Amino acid sequence: MTDLTRLTAAELAAALATGEISSVEATRAHLDRIAAVDGDVHAFLHVSDHAVEVAAGLDRRRAAGETLGPLAGVPLAIKDVLVTTDMPSTSGSKILEGFLSPYDATVVARARAAGLVPLGKTNMDEFAMGSSTEHSAYGPTHNPWDLDRIPGGSGGGSAAAVAAFESPVALGSDTGGSIRQPAHVTGTVGLKPTYGAVSRYGAIALASSLDQVGPVSRTVLDAALVHDAIGGHDPHDATSLSEAWPSFAEAAREGARGDVLKGLRVGVVRELPDSGFQSGVSASFHAALQTMEAHGAEIVEVSAPHFEYGVAAYYLILPAEASSNLAKFDSVRFGLRVEVAGGTVEDVMAASREAGFGDEVKRRIILGTYALSAGYYDAYYGSAQKVRTLIQRDFDAAFAQVDVIATPTSPTTAFRLGERIDDPLQMYLNDVTTIPANLAGIPGISLPSGLAEEDGLPVGIQFLAPAREDARLYRVGAALEALLVDQWGGPLLDRAPVLGGSR
Ligand code: GLN
Repeated sequence: MTDLTRLTAAELAAALATGEISSVEATRAHLDRIAAVDGDVHAFLHVSDHAVEVAAGLDRRRAAGETLGPLAGVPLAIKDVLVTTDMPSTSGSKILEGFLSPYDATVVARARAAGLVPLGKTNMDEFAMGSSTEHSAYGPTHNPWDLDRIPGGSGGGSAAAVAAFESPVALGSDTGGSIRQPAHVTGTVGLKPTYGAVSRYGAIALASSLDQVGPVSRTVLDAALVHDAIGGHDPHDATSLSEAWPSFAEAAREGARGDVLKGLRVGVVRELPDSGFQSGVSASFHAALQTMEAHGAEIVEVSAPHFEYGVAAYYLILPAEASSNLAKFDSVRFGLRVEVAGGTVEDVMAASREAGFGDEVKRRIILGTYALSAGYYDAYYGSAQKVRTLIQRDFDAAFAQVDVIATPTSPTTAFRLGERIDDPLQMYLNDVTTIPANLAGIPGISLPSGLAEEDGLPVGIQFLAPAREDARLYRVGAALEALLVDQWGGPLLDRAPVLGGSR
């Protein structure tokens, strides 16, 4: 029998629907794969002990003739930022060690209702702060392409799980790039939806005006299928958009089939010069654009003069919101409590937060508290919000000229574990191309564009579209993916050395 872990979610779903395989078989194959490789990869913080039971229940329902959803019986990995009733949710932090939520995040409840089988919870930077998973309180995840390198962050666990064939699909969250940048460095696909398109209810908040939950996968179609399952209006999330969404899977299928690139206007940002990018990243990006041009796309230079100020604005807005969101970890209501003999309530809170939070979290809480303090509010937070508006206007002007904007997803390929951990600014600059989408609330997708010549590591191309045009990203992403996979003679991940391929 074929190795079930090598199948995409769409392929598994098709085989499940015809009865060729059972969900128990698919689930067992992935649990075996986790047992075999996760000691090296460390994508998971927790592996479910009842996934096979859930799968068996779905097999029984199918056998009884019930009509199940398009992904019923397919395994799923869940970023630990999303709360679950049957598995602990730590958000990568010691302060929440062992925390069991009384409710499921809406996206988890919807995934379960759609028949996806949760395999476990994936590793992440503490409270989603980081680009490498090195800020996880539980140790880093390793990139399946090269175990000495970072898998991206904060959602490195979800991306690595999918890249290492431990799960066909996963859920992630993206506040400044945490779905897209891990996709870029692991040769996988990730999409940050339009702000409000997917519920944030039960996603442990980092920065509420920036956070979005989204899909992680090996193909554009799989991301679309997951998005269809988890997305749409949720009355539990006050910022959730109320409109009906088109089928993203249909959009992806249309992209893969048709000639959606013909006449497509693709914007490249003038203010993002090649010099800011590793040469192999630039080369891969331009080659992908050429492929699109050869199939009828028109490459148009657009100006987004405030794009480059995104990082500076983000690192004021994010810490400000994070410092407020993390105030609830007060040792009384959640998680860790460090007792202080004879101490006041404040002494206990201080000792618990001191012991429970890591350095990066403390750094951002201090920064955020400072930016919001009375004497500095206007100078820092207020100015950052103005920059945010200017970035939104840049996008409005650009999208009057083009259908999508394309950028490399991140400036470099996967760097080495330990390389940037002591240099927060270097780590922050990593997100220069992903952050503007979060500031503007628009959707963004990253998919593999190839391997960088100099190091043979994966590179991602990012497409951005106007708010609510998520379907456009699936269409365009699937169109380019089909052309590139054809050029490569098969999926990029077949060439990851740790997984038995050769570059
Ligand atoms: N790397 C960015 C940060 O450190 C993005 C994080 C995210 O999207 N959650 O904030």
